[in-house]
Amino acid sequence: MKQLTCIVCPVGCHIQIDEQLKVVGNKCPRGENYAVLELTDPRRTLTTTVRTFSKKTPRLPVKSAAPLPKPSIFKVLAELENIIVENDVKIGDIIIKNVCDTGIDIISTRNINFNDSKEEAYHG
Ligand code: SF4
Repeated sequence: MKQLTCIVCPVGCHIQIDEQLKVVGNKCPRGENYAVLELTDPRRTLTTTVRTFSKKTPRLPVKSAAPLPKPSIFKVLAELENIIVENDVKIGDIIIKNVCDTGIDIISTRNINFNDSKEEAYHG
């Protein structure tokens, strides 16, 4: 029997799930889905930043377009360490497609326009 706190909504139900995936304590079906997935395929949305050549915006905020399998998170972070953005990006642009073969893209959550004089590219 595993104890979980459902994070799907602010109610935060205390849920128990056993080895046969029988769920109790949830106030709605979304909690059951959450508990089963948490036991069989736990996932998290990743939000972080990557480096850029912009002096004004040296770190670009990015996120996974969908929740990533938890075991892949450290590998994804290591891959993002190697990224340096050098071209304009808009919110929602793909920074890495199919990151670490997860089938999930890493996307920008901010605009960078290197033609904006204030953006002043840094190549030092
Ligand atoms: S089980 Fe339903 S009501 Fe309870 S926290 Fe999860 S989503 Fe909210």
